[in-house]
Amino acid sequence: MGLAEALYGRVYVLRLGHRPGRDKRVTTHVALVARAFGANGLILEGVCDEAVEGSLLKVLDRWGGRMHYECGVSGRSYVREWKRAGGEVVHLTMYGLPVDEVIGAIASSPKPKLVVVGAEKVERFYYEEADYNVAVGNQPHSEVAALAVFLDRLFKGRELYQHFEGAKLRIIPQPRGKKVVR
Ligand code: SAM
Repeated sequence: MGLAEALYGRVYVLRLGHRPGRDKRVTTHVALVARAFGANGLILEGVCDEAVEGSLLKVLDRWGGRMHYECGVSGRSYVREWKRAGGEVVHLTMYGLPVDEVIGAIASSPKPKLVVVGAEKVERFYYEEADYNVAVGNQPHSEVAALAVFLDRLFKGRELYQHFEGAKLRIIPQPRGKKVVR
């Protein structure tokens, strides 16, 4: 079993500071990117949002795969518990160390990973508790982009070819047009 396979099933994303209504689209994209790029857990801190959960469940139903979902949890407690259980915490922030400098250490550690992404200002707690504060470039951009690039580096691009169990729909890649089988 390769490194990428060994890590599957052990990467959760903790989404901080979701504001229902306002962040509905971005947080849904965080969830869909998490699923499509090889993570298998999405934890929504502080609140629950039916719109996010509904979109994720719909995609899982049609396109397959399994994803652990929790909402309304305390982010601080979740991070502390994750570490107590032997996992490590990767906080994505433009103030962190360049992803290329730390991805080797993160990928070679067998510990389950909790990848933390913010919405607006992230509390100091997460910078201090994270095992790694990781920057995808030191410019401000988006949690969706940062998460996609980070997971792609972690899984070395192989997550794009993962099999999603139980899919009702599957795309047959075409040079032009759309071909979907049921
Ligand atoms: N101003 C906020 C702060 O100081 O934390 C950042 C807001 S940004 C729109 C939302 C999230 O995107 C951040 O919490 C971080 O997780 C992620 N992010 C944005 N740019 C990033 C970068 N260059 N590297 C890594 N993560 C980034």
